[in-house]
Amino acid sequence: MKKTNPDIVGKMRCDTCSSEMEVRQRSNGKKLLYTYCPKCKMDQRSGEAIQAFWRQNMVAPDAELAALVPEPAPTKPNPTETNTKADTENQLADWVPPENLQPDQEQDETKSSKLGWWIGGGVCLVLAAFGVRASMN
Ligand SMILES: [Zn+2]
Repeated sequence: MKKTNPDIVGKMRCDTCSSEMEVRQRSNGKKLLYTYCPKCKMDQRSGEAIQAFWRQNMVAPDAELAALVPEPAPTKPNPTETNTKADTENQLADWVPPENLQPDQEQDETKSSKLGWWIGGGVCLVLAAFGVRASMN
């Protein structure tokens, strides 16, 4: 387990740049708090208001700052929703409803029966032609 620097008493979200900054405590004197932001650097204000603000708003060094960062939480379910939607759409695209299949089958049957009639008619014509020829001979 990572050994925590004893100076670090907590952490909080930087008001200026929203980075996670460390809340440290001086080991001497009044043991005032000060913060260290990776972007804004050190803030050593010693006023009561800022000291109280840090003390009230900091969380334990090991704790998650999720409560202070509402943005990442809602972004997580969104990709899942998008994936589910895409999957459903793909399934719908692959799946052909029976209502669409039946008219096609009926059309095919109609076509084949028509084709049968045409063939039948053609055979009749040929037979008729032979018949005419036979009767002429
Ligand atoms: Zn900052």
